[in-house]
Amino acid sequence: MNAADASPSPAVAPTPPLPIYLDNGGTTALDPEVHAGLCARLALPLGNPNAAHGAGRAAREMLETARSDLATLLGGKPEEVVFTSGGTESITLALLGCTPVRAGRVALSAVEHSATRTAAERLAAQGMVVDVVPVTPTGRVTPEALAATLRPDTRIVSLMLAQNEIGTISDLASLIPVARRLSPRARIVVDAVQGFTKVPVRLAALGADCVAITAHKLHGPVGIGALWTRVPLTPLFKGGGQERGLRGGTQPAVLAWAFAEAARRAFADVDASARMAALRNRLIEEVRCHLPDATLTGEPPGPTRLPNNAHFCIPGLPSEPLINALAAAGVAASAGAACSTGKARISPTLQALGRRAEDGAFVRLTVGRFTTEACVVEGAARLAACVEPLRRAYAGR
Ligand code: PLP
Repeated sequence: MNAADASPSPAVAPTPPLPIYLDNGGTTALDPEVHAGLCARLALPLGNPNAAHGAGRAAREMLETARSDLATLLGGKPEEVVFTSGGTESITLALLGCTPVRAGRVALSAVEHSATRTAAERLAAQGMVVDVVPVTPTGRVTPEALAATLRPDTRIVSLMLAQNEIGTISDLASLIPVARRLSPRARIVVDAVQGFTKVPVRLAALGADCVAITAHKLHGPVGIGALWTRVPLTPLFKGGGQERGLRGGTQPAVLAWAFAEAARRAFADVDASARMAALRNRLIEEVRCHLPDATLTGEPPGPTRLPNNAHFCIPGLPSEPLINALAAAGVAASAGAACSTGKARISPTLQALGRRAEDGAFVRLTVGRFTTEACVVEGAARLAACVEPLRRAYAGR
């Protein structure tokens, strides 16, 4: 044996797999241009936008320009836009801010985000009755189901522009008139967090009273959202009376700029939806090629489904180990299902569609404006490589 044979081979750390980000429904990477503009503006000597001095006035101008730009993109007026910390706060302000109507009923669809569900639970604790509008097996609220749920004493109706897990787009142009007709005293709240910039509608013209949006789903920063509202609301916290008394706290002018700029750039990228849809369709094709028994949850690709969303049910294995295996393989995906105290359970949305944990693993893969074709092809291949060993491990259980 020579010396070279005797020496231990140097430990070689395994190279981690290149990250594949397919969780743009969870959050999105900052648009590089927004990132650059954000960094430049954070370095400016800006003051408190509520102060009278020059540094304060500069911040105020930035804030008000952002408000006006967002209002234009929404199709509304600047004074109708309230900046918040994100979608959850916007939805909560819209629902709990309807203080004078804390009697009667609140109706929400069975597939609302937890931000809406938990706000409705608080309204229930304050004496309102909560009615849940059932959805079709693809997650649609039909005008008939809405009509069957609404009552003259329904005071709040909460609907989504697009569902966050399965990407189903609501036909709000049909639903909102039904709500107006059957519950004329109701406030109509729309959660447009997933759909804003992706669904071609002018949100302020839909006929709703409040519309919630957030920056981090459209390649803007986390920590800023907005509520478009044309009705009076009671603030969740009053503080110094900022945002026309609707939301206390010093406004983050630079984040507001970044939100408006990210939204402006998303709208200006006129091919974005077609590009994302093509990538998402390629992803579906690749997944089906590797895993022929995988089925798409929700609406078929087309105008009733978000262009960036694919959501699969893959039989023969549970969700949580698959999401963990994907994470270990460098693929960011989301499940919409979790395992608590050893018992598999699925999200309220999947339950509302009539799905069961035993159906298999549920996985949401969502692309963004900056996702590449190589990323979706590799993501599908890694998904298939994760599924096969798990299927063997769970066979017959
Ligand atoms: N509504 C929907 C449909 C969402 O997808 C999300 C975020 O996942 C929210 C509300 C909450 O938004 P935020 O994370 O900005 O609080």
